[in-house]
Amino acid sequence: MYNVAQVIDDKCTAKKGCRLCIMYCPEANCLDLNSAKMVAEVTIDRCKGCELCVVVCNAAKHEAIVMQAVSATGQLMSKKGESAALGQAYQG
Ligand code: SF4
Ligand code: SF4
Repeated sequence: MYNVAQVIDDKCTAKKGCRLCIMYCPEANCLDLNSAKMVAEVTIDRCKGCELCVVVCNAAKHEAIVMQAVSATGQLMSKKGESAALGQAYQG
């Protein structure tokens, strides 16, 4: 299991022109604009879990990216955007 970044679509301000996470992600072809939905989108199997995108998104006060656990088979272990519940489970 490992963690990858996931964008919460409702919070992403890409439609207003934000591209911060896309510019700062160090991995090629990992974080890109989904031009159909006009939100940033992470390609799970490219993400290295460095959280740089979370830092820049939070610094801009958008808070639209969360880290989420992925199974060994590359599937998100909770629904996209459900990191809070997952974090609480870890605390136990
Ligand atoms: S930095 Fe945050 S708000 Fe900006 S495009 Fe990326 S996910 Fe969206
Ligand atoms: S966690 Fe790192 S590698 Fe993954 S999308 Fe964010 S900046 Fe890119």
